[in-house]
Amino acid sequence: MRTTVGIIGAGPAGLLLARLLHRAGIDSVVLEGRDRAYVEHRQRAGILEQGTVDVLRAVGAGERLDREGLRHDGIELRFDRRRHRVDFPGLTGGRSVWVYAQTEVCKDLVALQLKEGGPLLFGAQALAVQGADGDRPRIPFRYQGREDVLECDYVAGCDGFWGVSRGAVPAALSRTFERTYPYAWLGILADVAPSHDELVYTRHDRGFALLSMRSPSVSRLYLQVPAGTDAEEWSDEEIWDELQRRCETTDGRRLERGRITHKSVTPMRSFVHEPMRHGRLFLAGDAAHIVPPTGAKGLNLAVGDVVTLARALVHEKETGSPDLLDAYSATCLRRVWQAERFSYDMTTLLHPAPDATAFDGRLQQARLERIASSRAAGTDLAEAYTGFPLG
Ligand SMILES: Cc1cc2nc3c(=O)[nH]c(=O)nc-3n(C[C@H](O)[C@H](O)[C@H](O)COP(=O)(O)OP(=O)(O)OC[C@H]3O[C@@H](n4cnc5c(N)ncnc54)[C@H](O)[C@@H]3O)c2cc1C
Repeated sequence: MRTTVGIIGAGPAGLLLARLLHRAGIDSVVLEGRDRAYVEHRQRAGILEQGTVDVLRAVGAGERLDREGLRHDGIELRFDRRRHRVDFPGLTGGRSVWVYAQTEVCKDLVALQLKEGGPLLFGAQALAVQGADGDRPRIPFRYQGREDVLECDYVAGCDGFWGVSRGAVPAALSRTFERTYPYAWLGILADVAPSHDELVYTRHDRGFALLSMRSPSVSRLYLQVPAGTDAEEWSDEEIWDELQRRCETTDGRRLERGRITHKSVTPMRSFVHEPMRHGRLFLAGDAAHIVPPTGAKGLNLAVGDVVTLARALVHEKETGSPDLLDAYSATCLRRVWQAERFSYDMTTLLHPAPDATAFDGRLQQARLERIASSRAAGTDLAEAYTGFPLG
């Protein structure tokens, strides 16, 4: 099998890259190790930056998003039982974010790819990336019980944190930067209308809590729990009680409860692999970097990477110049590190660490007070949350 761009992974990064290339007349093959149902139903991100929404619309994947997505013009910060709203358009000159689940983004992109794009093979497990530093990289893969090889001009490693692509960069050329956190998020999906019409980020001495949503009738809620917690340790009632306790306000806000349909624990990690390119292999999305979910940046970073990569491949096709491909890693990493910084700041602002002292708690409170009382501090948060410019 032969193609121009061999794409490993059909998460948001791989699917969007295939779509961008298809629209530019560059052929690709997507190899996805799991089945379609897994790709379309894995519960993950839910916040799209304005730039991500613009890209999805531009590639023809915005129709359902425009119909079912919820535009959000702010978030609420809760601390010391008080509420402070961060007004995104007012602080950023008009920018917003959208609530539209990653599962739905993937469904829309899969449908488009199967309808009019190049091959998208589910159950096709890439085994390695070979010859990335030569002219003809190869991806051996297993599909329907047989081993085959995809030969290509370029390889896009969009296979997430646990994929094989990153391992193809020689250790001597790789640098990794990493931080793990001593806490995790217990996340639930519940059949109940959101208790608030925007996301609520709460700092409480008992731990962080986030009230989010998937649709007008489905809530997505999170609790900070110790790293290594098993979701089954928490009964449904305990989860609701703890959410209520942490989100309590002086004006007596109540949390609506409903049937919990999904429960899972997400570990928190910051990770960057440099460089994001080795020869003809380009890493994109979680294959190259991970952020803790507090800043809602993971999916949006993946989109930024593949927009940059597609632009560079189109430039090379049209002009013969590899300049943008050569600049790919440095271009992406500038944005990646801004998102890493913001995600780290949001995480440490809102989560009391297990060994936190009373002093640490007061500092978190002071940082929150500053955001609530200073336009400059509020603007800094709003600009980062609504998104850093693409490439
Ligand atoms: C539990 C969880 C919750 C999250 N919540 C949020 C959130 O609330 N907000 C946010 O912004 N971000 C969140 N994220 C991060 C966000 O979901 C990711 O940043 C995003 O999925 C990155 O997309 P991607 O395409 O780079 O990687 P992925 O979505 O991981 O896709 C990679 C794909 O590659 C496939 N693959 C892997 N290895 C191979 C192989 N060898 N051969 C073929 N295919 C392979 C995988 O099956 C997968 O489909 C969360 C992540 C996790 C794990």
